[in-house]
Amino acid sequence: MKPLGPIPAGYTALDGELAIGGRKASVLVEEAGGTPLFVYCADLIRQRVAQLRSALPQRVALHYAVKANPYRPVLELMAGLVDGFDIASGGELAMVRAAGIDPARVSFAGPGKRDAELEAAIAAGVTLNLESEGEADRALAIASRLGETPRLAIRVNPDFDLKGSGMKMGGGAKPFGIDAERVPALARRIIAVGAEWRGFHIFAGSQALDAAAIIHTQAQTLDLAARLAEESGAPLPHCNLGGGFGIPYFPGDTPVDLAAVGAALGERMEQLPTVLQGTAFCIELGRYLVGEAGVYLCQIVDRKVSHGELYLITDGGLHHQLAASGNFGTVVRRNYPVAIASRFGAEVEEEANVVGCLCTPLDRLADKGGFPRAEVGDLVAVFCAGAYGASASPAMFLGQGPAREMLV
Ligand SMILES: *Cc1c(COP(=O)(O)O)cnc(C)c1O
Repeated sequence: MKPLGPIPAGYTALDGELAIGGRKASVLVEEAGGTPLFVYCADLIRQRVAQLRSALPQRVALHYAVKANPYRPVLELMAGLVDGFDIASGGELAMVRAAGIDPARVSFAGPGKRDAELEAAIAAGVTLNLESEGEADRALAIASRLGETPRLAIRVNPDFDLKGSGMKMGGGAKPFGIDAERVPALARRIIAVGAEWRGFHIFAGSQALDAAAIIHTQAQTLDLAARLAEESGAPLPHCNLGGGFGIPYFPGDTPVDLAAVGAALGERMEQLPTVLQGTAFCIELGRYLVGEAGVYLCQIVDRKVSHGELYLITDGGLHHQLAASGNFGTVVRRNYPVAIASRFGAEVEEEANVVGCLCTPLDRLADKGGFPRAEVGDLVAVFCAGAYGASASPAMFLGQGPAREMLV
């Protein structure tokens, strides 16, 4: 048997079934009209935001990285919980606007912003995190044609990365941001042409669980921001310190020591150099806010044995949960937390491979996991499905189409 990832806190059994937000999985499936279904729990999201607010210094604002989960009810919930929103495309701009979010709270990062996206963002008053000098030229030209004062920040490609991070986003050659040594010249130019100067965006990586690594990166980020602000010759109005707080997906993973991260950042905020004393800081988080608050529910359609191995075949799969199948940025496939939702908390009776309904061996939700005996019709839960699930999986593959989603 292979171990399964740790089931996040906050999930309980009710009448022998998984309960999400106090409601039974089978009831939620019926209400949604069937499986596959993503259920996101508003209470767990609220709790996570409250934990962050109490651990982090008050001076540091909290932004939501929309790409983790752009489901409209989640955005509407977030509008009342976080201070700002980070988007990565014109499509996400349309989504935050549809959710009633004030564009003045939004910043837009991401390489390859097209002119139409720049125009929509500038016209709406969104802050652009510029990814290159060429993008700066295009943004300034578009703003002058529109007669608008653009709100411009620079995304810095830092000369370090977040250690232990699942996805490296800084350090060395990257398509993201502008190499640190070229940042001061561009900052001076932006200030000189009379754009609204919005400071730096410094994002060094994602999915780190090690508090020491996060603390070290935040210290390096503040040092870099101070140095670049000095060289830019102006106090820094705003600094996005990035994020990168990870969640435990795999066996042996443990949660980030949030108290340690908050305490260290608090100390740094007490000792800021002059050039950063008036700076407004934020961190931007995606999966840490919503990842553990989501569960993907699918239903067992077939139960079969091949060469002595048991297969539980579901109506879900990698077309909704690419990451759980091990095909979204992981090098070695390991099991996510997976359970039989309709027999939640029951004893382990057998070893099974839980697979999806796609005709590819990649479509595996759990490899040789230990489960209570499950039959056709039972519900399977894949946890840690609140981020990079529905929106980061190839829903149209094999003509399957999207999963249902609900916020409870
Ligand atoms: C993807 C991304 C995030 C969110 O990352 P998480 O790991 O979900 O917290 C934040 N900022 C930027 C710039 C990103 O590209």
